[in-house]
Amino acid sequence: MIEVTFDRDARALYCYFAEIQEGEDATQIECDGSFLLDAAGQISGLRLATGGVLLPEALRYALSHPQAELDEQGDLTIRFAAEQASAEPLPYPAIFDLARNGAALGVEVIAEPEFAIGERLAHIEPLLVEVYGGDEEPPPAPEAQAHAPRPTPEAAAALPAQVQPVRVGFVALLGRPNVGKSTLLNAYLGRKVSIVSPKPQTTRLPVRGILNRDDAQVIFVDTPGLHEPKSGLGEFMVQAARRAIPDSDVLCFMVDASVPPGPLDERIAELVKRARKPTILVLNKIDRARRADVYLQQYRALGPWEWEVAVSALTGEGLGTLLEEIVKRLPLGPRLFPVDQVTDLSLREQVAELIREKVLLNTQEEVPHGVAIEIEEWEQRGARLYIRATVNVERESHKAIVIGEHGRMLKKIGAAARFEIERLLEQPVYLDLWVKVRKDWRRDPASLRWLGYDIRNLKS
Ligand code: GDP
Ligand code: MG
Repeated sequence: MIEVTFDRDARALYCYFAEIQEGEDATQIECDGSFLLDAAGQISGLRLATGGVLLPEALRYALSHPQAELDEQGDLTIRFAAEQASAEPLPYPAIFDLARNGAALGVEVIAEPEFAIGERLAHIEPLLVEVYGGDEEPPPAPEAQAHAPRPTPEAAAALPAQVQPVRVGFVALLGRPNVGKSTLLNAYLGRKVSIVSPKPQTTRLPVRGILNRDDAQVIFVDTPGLHEPKSGLGEFMVQAARRAIPDSDVLCFMVDASVPPGPLDERIAELVKRARKPTILVLNKIDRARRADVYLQQYRALGPWEWEVAVSALTGEGLGTLLEEIVKRLPLGPRLFPVDQVTDLSLREQVAELIREKVLLNTQEEVPHGVAIEIEEWEQRGARLYIRATVNVERESHKAIVIGEHGRMLKKIGAAARFEIERLLEQPVYLDLWVKVRKDWRRDPASLRWLGYDIRNLKS
């Protein structure tokens, strides 16, 4: 049976086709659809236009349930009841979570507040396994998380030295795009694990940066923007934040203190507050915040916050203080990652991200969102590591931009990327870059599997 959860705060229904194991959902893909309603306005089903987005094969878990059927146009219908009097288009694209094998594990649909999902659940009731948010207690942190059981201080003292507990835990960096989350992460880790660019939405993978000290292991989670601006960017940033919260021990609500709060800051602030976890207001970019004191009041008013600090992720100001405050709030426990590990991204993933960053920094607005890097070869040849990578773009015109006149742009991108890759890998590298047009790769599951979205399979 398809199981459903409902999140009141996010106004989101989630239909599970298969059990989702921790870390199993590798890719997300969007598609349009509608709610099917009975005469009383109760939700009697969902229709999702998967044609051109997902192959029937990818829907095998969904179609193993009697409630689901697929027609020739590729419309997937999930029925909670037989009646259907009308249909209401979804205000935001539905989001399918795909497993590494490309099969959809479940789908999330989000509605506007006026639609009031909570009052339309009569037919879904029997399938509802969980309701989050609203007046309910916040959901417990999922058991499957990497949190090891925390020993009591007395029990901990009895442990051998190498597993002596330290302050350890997950710290979510939450905030709208461009406030400086990735910059902060990189500043703490002293090397790039998360790419930075002046264009919003450059982080695609949920990067974890791991900071080790003698007395602490701080695991930063930089919330990714998995979705494109055209499809309700704000909404999805909020969703990304919502997902990171339950697994975190400390929340950093990060804002750009040089500008006043916007609606997105307010929405994220609401979510953060509702989690009732230790939260620090991080006012970033104070190096250029001339009227910071004024905006400070406005950001403060979005709270209450347990603590606040003004920092500059760029100059480093305030970062020491912030770290102390974070560490203080972490529980005691054994380290969750080896001390020499800085990130849970593989080296290949980091290299691909570095190349993508250089493309983003060097090209104009129309190119960036369609760029995906594919590492094709990775081979030690004598003293040098030979890396062949393909820069996939969506259009011929983008290819021309990335290559540039007489190949100048690609050379520039390659040189900048190679410099940082050599620093990362600490060895000479020969970087061989190719540019390929993969039309509409973002809509093609086969391409998605090939591209950055599945590079976890290539772990070195
Ligand atoms: P994210 O989307 O929140 O991860 O933001 P990024 O870390 O990618 O930063 C977005 C932009 O803000 C980049 O151009 C950064 O260089 C810039 N930035 C980040 N932190 C600071 C800061 O403290 N001061 C200034 N002036 N710029 C910053
Ligand atoms: Mg970022």
